[in-house]
Amino acid sequence: MKRVSRRAAHYIRDELLKRERFIVIALDSRQKIVSVNRSTPDWNLPGLIRGSVLPDSLASLLNAASDAAEPMVFPYLELNGFFVDIHVLGDSESADLVIHDVSEAHETEQTLQQRAHENSLLSEQRAALNSELAELNEELLLRRRQAEQASAAKSRFIASMSHEFRSPIASIMGYADLLQTELPDSDNPRALQRASWHLLTLVENLLEQAREGEENVSLNPTHFSLDRLAGDIEALFRTQAAAKGLDFEVTSSPYGIDVECDELRLRQILINLVSNALRYTRQGQVSVHFKHRDDTLFIRVRDTGRGIEPKDIERIFEAFTRVGEGNTSGAGLGLTITRQLIKRMGGRLKVESEPGAGSEFRVAIPCPCIQGEHDEMPPLSGTVLWVDDDQDILSLYQVVLENWGLRVITGSSITEARDLFKIHDCPVVVTDMHLTDGNGVELLSHLRAEQPDIVGILISGSGVVDLAPEIAGKGIRAFLQKPIDAELLYKEIAAAFAGE
Ligand code: ADP
Repeated sequence: MKRVSRRAAHYIRDELLKRERFIVIALDSRQKIVSVNRSTPDWNLPGLIRGSVLPDSLASLLNAASDAAEPMVFPYLELNGFFVDIHVLGDSESADLVIHDVSEAHETEQTLQQRAHENSLLSEQRAALNSELAELNEELLLRRRQAEQASAAKSRFIASMSHEFRSPIASIMGYADLLQTELPDSDNPRALQRASWHLLTLVENLLEQAREGEENVSLNPTHFSLDRLAGDIEALFRTQAAAKGLDFEVTSSPYGIDVECDELRLRQILINLVSNALRYTRQGQVSVHFKHRDDTLFIRVRDTGRGIEPKDIERIFEAFTRVGEGNTSGAGLGLTITRQLIKRMGGRLKVESEPGAGSEFRVAIPCPCIQGEHDEMPPLSGTVLWVDDDQDILSLYQVVLENWGLRVITGSSITEARDLFKIHDCPVVVTDMHLTDGNGVELLSHLRAEQPDIVGILISGSGVVDLAPEIAGKGIRAFLQKPIDAELLYKEIAAAFAGE
């Protein structure tokens, strides 16, 4: 250290030494204590009394240091419960012992050591955890892969079930349509149609529940008359309402418009809401009102039934949840699916209910109005190749298309269709997506390779997969869902022959 002022030197001595605890023992040549000085009066070590002989423990240190030329330090000795550094300064004549209390420093060091130990333990545990985590991650990846496979299997299952159900129902509905044309005065074909819609709704309800969470479910908007839909709903539930002695009313405004919306799903929603209203109403009235405004379809289903307790209003939308006393039959799925469908269609659903007085379900769904769509169906001419592995569908559409003036060649597989295509000139090909020896997209690709300007129309009953990316650039004009909307089919075929 460079020269320090006297004031600083005093300060260091007084202030810094004040914080330390030490005892200075002066000894004569026979190791007898000549004096004992303490830095703090409270620090006392027993046995250190002037005139007595140094205790053995300290005397041994003194002896050990006796030959040293320099002062010696014995660090961290335990003395009467304290940790001390003992400095021995001496010669043969006399010696001084400075005992310095370093308990605090010792404790700090101990704590540091303890921490270091804990840290090393923690790092070991962390390493073990990391390896466990890596294992868990691997398992998670495996599980996710399994879940993805299961989900893909589920999608395939839904698609094939949907196809299995829709095809025969589409057949029934198509034949009912034909009957209607042949027997325009009979209500029987319409009853057949309505029952088919009901059946289709039940099947779709179940499939919709299975589809929950799937992202690629596509909507299938078609054009239809709002009055026809209202009329069908009225006719579908009229008998049921009458049997319960309920007043049942279906109204629609404005009159005579066509709208564009996924009709199958809209019917599903309506059938769920109206059948609930009738089931949960003992007396009074059930009314359904359709109103179209600003490209939105508003539906109100109102009843004077038992109503829903406020605490149950949210619960009624939970899957398989049924509330209220003495429930009639039901699976507790209708409202869950209704809400999912409305959401998928970009709409809203609201419920207001008063226990004992009745309920009102209000739906708003985006649904553009279609102008001037009531065109006649002038006769068409030309040859269509229709391919489907369902013989009933083939026979049905052979009649339907022939009624429109077309010649129809039918085939039930890709192989048969390719052979027929070689013999007949068929500029328009309608094919089912699922065929026994491949799919409709493949068939159309083969046929296009032979005749590049054919127009393809794909039909599917699976209703799940959005085929848009798959059919892009393959000359496929339209993708129609079973049950096929006859008007839409007519329009697509007419436009295909007109080269539009
Ligand atoms: P389900 O009718 O098959 O039980 P839903 O999901 O359609 O299943 O309905 C769930 C519950 O909501 C029903 O159990 C019934 O308690 C209640 N609910 C639905 N609609 C009405 C209604 N219009 N009036 C009174 N309660 C209703």
